[in-house]
Amino acid sequence: MNAQRRHARKFPRGRQLDQTALNQVREILGPGPHQRDLLIEYLHAIQDRLGYLPRPHLAALAAEMKLAMAEVYEVASFYAHFDIVENAELPPPTITIRVCDSLSCMLAGAERLISAVTAAADPDVRVVRAPCIGACDQAPAAALGHHLIGHATPEKLLADHHQHSHATAKSRLPDYQASGGYQLLQNCLAGHHTPAAIIATLSQSALRGLGGAGFPTHRKWTMVHDQSGPKALAVNGDEGEPGTFKDRYFLHHDPHRMLEGMLIAAWVVGADDCYRYMRDEYPEIIAQLRIEIAALEAAGLCRHTKLHLRRGAGAYICGEESAMIESIEGKRGLPRHRPPYVAEVGIHGRPTLVNNIETLYWIRDIIEKGPVWFNDQGKPEHPGPRTYSVSGRVKNPGVKIAPAGSSVRELIALCGGMADGHVFKAYLPGGASGGILPAAMGDEPLDFGSLEKHGAFVGSHAVVVLSEHDSLRDAARNLMRFFMAESCGQCTPCRSGTEKALTLMATPNWDEPALNALSTVMREASICGLGQAASNPLQAVLRFFPDER
Ligand code: SF4
Repeated sequence: MNAQRRHARKFPRGRQLDQTALNQVREILGPGPHQRDLLIEYLHAIQDRLGYLPRPHLAALAAEMKLAMAEVYEVASFYAHFDIVENAELPPPTITIRVCDSLSCMLAGAERLISAVTAAADPDVRVVRAPCIGACDQAPAAALGHHLIGHATPEKLLADHHQHSHATAKSRLPDYQASGGYQLLQNCLAGHHTPAAIIATLSQSALRGLGGAGFPTHRKWTMVHDQSGPKALAVNGDEGEPGTFKDRYFLHHDPHRMLEGMLIAAWVVGADDCYRYMRDEYPEIIAQLRIEIAALEAAGLCRHTKLHLRRGAGAYICGEESAMIESIEGKRGLPRHRPPYVAEVGIHGRPTLVNNIETLYWIRDIIEKGPVWFNDQGKPEHPGPRTYSVSGRVKNPGVKIAPAGSSVRELIALCGGMADGHVFKAYLPGGASGGILPAAMGDEPLDFGSLEKHGAFVGSHAVVVLSEHDSLRDAARNLMRFFMAESCGQCTPCRSGTEKALTLMATPNWDEPALNALSTVMREASICGLGQAASNPLQAVLRFFPDER
């Protein structure tokens, strides 16, 4: 044997497969073949079992799926909830406490909480900052493993971290059916309604996409209905906009109303497959949905479409519909260029109807009670009800279902007024992206199209109320930090622009010309709404709060 061959035998080239890791991956995944679009689900399965993702297991997963290691690694490393561990001898602590550091939680003292818990945590516990976990009405909020801890304190987070266990949930299907649930769906499937008639009814209602875009629902349904070939439906359950927690509320209180809306939508547009994409920050909702879907299948209520549940992995950008579709296909959540629109080319190239949880929640009521019933719940010129997630400096934050076009002053009144000792100063009308408006604009109607003239928008109707105790400058920096962390990095104006803006915003006196130029580039040259809207809060400070910049 020559020296070269001896060297090759001793030091084989390329990444070596760890047989133990491969055996473990095979045992966790079960027999193949394994689907490429389930890559994120497989990563979850491995991490759920082991507590993290050892690098040898990523290589084993790549081998098992016949994928390049780079393909597996780029997906695993894109999502914040995956813990890739290079050295298995240095695994992360067994318990992770995610403390939300988005705006509402920061107002409620998240920074102090993070410091206190970090200082007191034992070696088995690690504390990480997390973007909004959809519990702004319980700020400061944290997630301890699979459990949401509202109004978190160091004592709550540290003293009880061994005591949390999964509650055993039971199906809510019988209760929903007892109140007439799924009768409408069954009438549709039995031919008592036609898809055209359902779309016509929706067209008389003011229902719009309530995930933030506000696109008329009946037009979306019509576009997909009119396409030919196999189609898909995707339910966007990734409400990551800081300040938004309404989907969690609807799914917690009445999951079947959304599911019935989804099944009716699938029947109307002819979707062979229904994907529900749920954010990983809502583990209790995902667990409940698994139970309800199994019950639906057992009851034979979804024979006209195939149901799939997909779990996100901690990426705000996957709330953007084309990024969500990439994620459903098991890839990094990178927004797509459009056209083509997802209604034409969506999941696996099929025309896809994408609807938000709340949009689907209203379908049954609109068909059963009529579009007039729905529209009459709004204000003149602002038809329909709206679900506002209200948080910040109010006495009783929470989900408020109120007439479309309600003002922030009316919402503050619904919340029992301002919190004790706080005077209304400003508000975010539409979460992190929607800008910041001064209290002097507190009577503006909060609806699609009402606020754009002020450089703001209502988006997902996440209203965060700020008081005289709060610095608008600090709020804008918190929001820019969020966008920088959540940028998918695909385009330079957003990736570099958010980072540069944050640097400029850290200086004692803001360089207004530079920030304006940066904002223009980000707004005009970014691929998706994240980069296009990231400068809205900073522009609001420049425009409305000149003393604070
Ligand atoms: Fe990604 Fe930001 Fe570009 Fe959107 S704007 S595609 S989030 S880099």
